[in-house]
Order: sequence, then structure tokens, then C-alpha cells
Amino acid sequence: MSFSHLEFSNRLISQLPADSETDNVCRSVENAVFSWVSPTSTSQPSLINLNQTLADTLGFSAAESASEQFTNLMTGNALLDGMKPYALCYGGHQFGQWAGQLGDGRAINLAEINTAQLGYQTLQLKGAGKTPYSRRADGLAVLRSSIREYLCSEAMFNLGIPTTRALSLCLTGDQVIRDKMYDGNAQLEPCAIVCRVSPSFLRFGSIQLPASRGDEKLVKQLVEFSINNDYPHLKPKNKNFTVETYLNWFRAVCDNTSTMIVHWMRVGFVHGVMNTDNMSLIGETIDYGPYGWIDDFDLGWTPNTTDEGQKRYRFGAQFQVSQWNLFQLANAIFPLINEVEPLQATMSDYAIHYDKKWQQMMASKLGFKEYQGISDVHIFQTLETLLAEVETDMTLFYRLLATYQKDSDALNHFNSCYYQKEQLTTRYQQSLTDWLQRYQARLSFDGLSAVERQKSMNQVNPKYVLRNYLAQQAIERAEQGDYSEIEKLKTLFTKPYDEQPELSVYAQKRPDWARDKVGCSMLSCSS
Ligand code: AMP
Ligand code: MG
Repeated sequence: MSFSHLEFSNRLISQLPADSETDNVCRSVENAVFSWVSPTSTSQPSLINLNQTLADTLGFSAAESASEQFTNLMTGNALLDGMKPYALCYGGHQFGQWAGQLGDGRAINLAEINTAQLGYQTLQLKGAGKTPYSRRADGLAVLRSSIREYLCSEAMFNLGIPTTRALSLCLTGDQVIRDKMYDGNAQLEPCAIVCRVSPSFLRFGSIQLPASRGDEKLVKQLVEFSINNDYPHLKPKNKNFTVETYLNWFRAVCDNTSTMIVHWMRVGFVHGVMNTDNMSLIGETIDYGPYGWIDDFDLGWTPNTTDEGQKRYRFGAQFQVSQWNLFQLANAIFPLINEVEPLQATMSDYAIHYDKKWQQMMASKLGFKEYQGISDVHIFQTLETLLAEVETDMTLFYRLLATYQKDSDALNHFNSCYYQKEQLTTRYQQSLTDWLQRYQARLSFDGLSAVERQKSMNQVNPKYVLRNYLAQQAIERAEQGDYSEIEKLKTLFTKPYDEQPELSVYAQKRPDWARDKVGCSMLSCSS
């Protein structure tokens, strides 16, 4: 098997400074963006799921992706000529505190390839062994967290949300001890590797780290690299970067970030660990850890038990956190700008632009032709109050809203989306009926037919989301050696907006047994 058609571009390693030390030992890495490091070989690699569609679009032939060599590549047991693996150096604010140097502690980048269909894409193995950034950890990833990343990133992609992607899910044959809930119940777990794919794995923290060390030269190199490679439309024609070029880049990062967060709010995705080392410079959802999906609409919910006390990264705080994170990025690039005012103006615009995108998004969820001004905001806010007042399944509610017809019995229509029927007081019923009347009046203003409205709403309100318990069921089966549920969910989530009636059991609300179950509503950072 040749793979000889792959065109390795490797722009990052050829344009940015490498760590001069090559021993794979933990250390502080300065004046460098990455360290050379090879993946650790594994005892018995096996491919348990392949993202055939992505493999095809990246240019791997069916024979190549079915080959033993492909499995070896996807588990770090083989390299192709042209692959020069490395780990990135970055820092970050974790839960609001500056954590200093972090870096790819268990992610190893294999290569950047230039593909006909997707342009430049870097292939990265997550869980491929220790790197100079592993600190006190082992560089490995367990099967459960790998399944969660593998399924969720592709579900997000098919929901139309910017995200890193996942090409393959492999077992390594090795095992590692993990204390899943940090409660003293450590267990041996199977190790796995996901091959992630993205045009860029640079994070806010990639720029923050050199900035924190006063290394302005590296900050400048990184920002210019990001402009040249990921925001080429901002590249100055005469190659002379100016303050305005850097500001335009920062505005573009803000723009991509707000777009991403609005999508998260649209589908009920809670990232769970929005540390600045987990914020992509190209505005992709990255680092799927203790993320979760909203079942009952609750702006205060976070799946991450490590964040239980503060709930810093709760559903309803994601915009504010993204803003806080962008402030940190603004501070990091300050030496390139040297003026507070334009950065402050960009941050004020961030809130304004976010609001605009959120309003458009909510209008589309409700089936309005366009956002019509402040009276619409009142409709959105009253609805969110209603959804939160009694436990209401967010995903089911919006799909049912699309088929709601004037004057039909509200409780009967929305019956299947309530978790606690005893909460449905007369007062609540009256509020819902009032809201629906107001909604109907607003709809008649647009004059769309019922069919048109339903069609447009079902394009933005998914029928299927990767409810936490669905991923957990796939994990439990896989831990028994049955990988069929992974395949089934992967296929289901290729069309999350389609009815797929034969699979509608996957659209049901969270079953009662999953309400407080570990893995379903409670997840830790252990992975
Ligand atoms: P995360 O919270 O997953 O974004 O991880 C924060 C930092 O810890 C990153 O630098 C990761 O690379 C590192 N890290 C997480 N898990 C491991 C592990 N098992 N081995 C080495 N480094 C890890
Ligand atoms: Mg991370």
C-alpha cells in the first residue's frame, strides 16, 4: 500500500520555530511553537470504526483505509515518508486561573496534507503517548472518552457546527488505570486513539504562552502564521503587516468564535471546559471532554462535575466565557497593537455581533422569516422562561413547535417533552397558551404556509442530538466488545435533521434511569 499520492504540506513545522531539544522528557519549552516527538507504539492496534466519508474526502482510497498499514498509522505504529510528528506548545487559563505551559500532553500531530476537497488538513492522534507536555500524566486516552469525541465531533459537523473532525477510532490493545469520578474507585480501562482532523490546532493559549513570557517575536510570528494560513484573505498584498492587519485578524477570530457559540446555543451543546487552551483560533469546537447536551432546558446546567461548585462553564454562560477568553487573547496580542481603544471597541462589538447572531438564530428556530426587532426578543425570552419553568426537553419542544397548529390543545401537543408532569400547573398552562397565541400572531405577520414554516424550522432544530445517555450506551456496549452501537449512532448522526422514522427511538427524551447516572449527566475531566 503506497499512500504515495498524499501531498504533505507541513506548513506549521516549516514556518515556525521548533524546540531545539529532542529528548522526550517533560520540560519548559521556550522560543518554540512545537517539539518533535514520535508516537509510542502500541501492543495490539485495531480499527474499531472508520469515518469512511471523511477518509474519502481526504483522499484515502477504500483499499488504503482498509489496510493494516492504515491501522498502524492511526495508532502511531507506523509513519509515512513525509510525516514529521510533533506536539504543540501552548498555555492557558484553566477555570479562570493562568496555568502556564500546558501543550499537547497526549496529542501528536502526524502531518499536514493538502487535499483536493478540503484543502490543508492536519492529522492528529489523541492518546498516542507521552510528549514533553505530558507533565505528570501518561499521554493516553481511554475508550470511553475517545468514543465520546469520535461520535460527537462528527455529529457536530453534520449539525453544521464548526468543529475538529474525527477520522478513525482505534483500540491500542493496552490498558491504563483511571479514577473515572476522582472518588478512589480506580479501574483498568482500555486505551484508544482517535485521529482528529483540522485545518489548525492552534488555540488562544498558543499565543498567550509566549505573551506571558514577554516573547513578542513569537507572538508576532504566530499571529502572522495564523493570518497567512488560516485567514489568507487578511494577508496584506505587499506582505507588510500593520496594526490594522492584526486588528482585522482579531476581529475575524471574534467573529468565528461568536458564530460557534451561537450554534452551541441553538442545539443545546455545553462544552464543559472552555479553558483558553480549548479555544481554537479558527473558531472550531475543539477538545471534547466532559461536554453534554441539554435534555431539559436549563441555562444553569453543566455536565462537568469538576466544575460543580462554580458552574463557570454552564450552558447559559458560554457567551460570557467566550468574551472573557477573547479578552485574554486581546491582552496577549496587545504588544502588536499598543493601543487599548481599538481592542476595547472590538470587544464591545463582540457583544453586539453576538446579540445579532443570537437574535437571527432564535428567529430561525421559531420559524420567523427574519428577526423583526425588540418585540421578538420578548417572545424569545418569555419562551426560555417557560422552557425552564417546568422541565421541558429542548430538542423535542422545538420539533413539536414546528407542527403546532393554531388553537390546538397545547399540553396535549407538547406532552412528550415534559419530564415531570406534576409541574404542569394551571398557571403554567395558561402562560404556555398565552405565549402560543402571541407566537401565532407573530407567525401570521410573516405569512409563511405551515409547510414552509415546518420545513425551515426542521433545518435548524435537529431531531437527533447526541444525548449523553446515547453515547453512554454505545460506550457500555463497546467496553463489552460490541462496537455496533458506535456504527449505528455514527450513521444516525450523518442526518440529524432528518426524520429517520425507523430510528425515532433515538429522538426520545432522556429516560429516567439516566437522570443522575455517571456518564449521562455527570462527567469529570478524567479521560
Ligand atoms: P484538557 O482539559 O483535556 O484540555 O487537558 C488540559 C491539559 O492536560 C492539556 O495540556 C492536555 O494535553 C493535558 N492532558 C490531559 N490528559 C492528559 C493525559 N492523559 N496525558 C497527558 N496529558 C494530558
Ligand atoms: Mg485541551
